[in-house]
Amino acid sequence: MKKSNSRLYRLVARESRPEWAQGTRAIRAGGVEVGGDRPVVIAGPCAVESRMQIMETAHAVKEAGADMLRGGAFKPRTSPYDFQGMGEEGLELLAEAGAETGLPVVTEALDVRHVGLVSKYADVIQVGTRNMHHFPLLKELGKAGKPVLLKRGFGATVNEWLCAAEYVALGGNEDIMLCERGVRRNPDAPDAGLKIDFGAIAEVRRLSFLPVIVDPSHGTGDSEKVESACRKAVRSGAHGLIIEVMPEGWDRSAVKCDPEQFIYPSALRKIIEGIGRWRKSDPRPA
Ligand code: PEP
Ligand code: MN
Repeated sequence: MKKSNSRLYRLVARESRPEWAQGTRAIRAGGVEVGGDRPVVIAGPCAVESRMQIMETAHAVKEAGADMLRGGAFKPRTSPYDFQGMGEEGLELLAEAGAETGLPVVTEALDVRHVGLVSKYADVIQVGTRNMHHFPLLKELGKAGKPVLLKRGFGATVNEWLCAAEYVALGGNEDIMLCERGVRRNPDAPDAGLKIDFGAIAEVRRLSFLPVIVDPSHGTGDSEKVESACRKAVRSGAHGLIIEVMPEGWDRSAVKCDPEQFIYPSALRKIIEGIGRWRKSDPRPA
């Protein structure tokens, strides 16, 4: 077993916090407990694209049993020519959909300058994989007064991920959930792209007391692979899942962001029903 590096991340390390020698420090995100006995499900579109889309999705994921609603208003896109998100209008629509369904909302702050604005609308502020090393943003989120969903950089080690969490904690905010969303594999491999590091779940649970969730949507990039990734995540001890979902039958070709990986609410329902069964084989490390 690898030695921990808690000198680098003292506040979030189990070994420097005797009160967290065991167990998970659950956080409350808009009334929902993350890191408690039951894995939580955060579901919704990649990006808020219109009022109709976010309202329909919010009602459908609520109906399917989701605990929280996700949706990006500021999108980190690889190409600057791609849809960048609806900005504040997207935040307003997301918050409205959350209020209408009673679901707390999770959305990304892409930029230090947006933290104040995003925290006005969000119950949980997401840090995207590309920003895990954006230290000024992490410091700002330490003071934002909202729980943070911290994605693992797709090229980051577990140590670097926990150091990023430490930046947030150092600002006074320990309400952090970690999110494994896939790491880059050999681009020449037959299924080039990303691979979810399921082993990292037990590793961070050993090294830290922070809850850890998994993103099977960005982690697989393929709607057909989402259910099996959810099963593996829950069996590996994940405290939750964040899944991209669009309304039933929604036309993939009309979606502005990540059209290949979202699932429909009927598939979400099946996953949520599966969680209880899969959970029984959770080894519950730490
Ligand atoms: C997202 O969740 O919308 C997202 C862009 O994820 P990631 O930062 O993991 O790519
Ligand atoms: Mn996406």
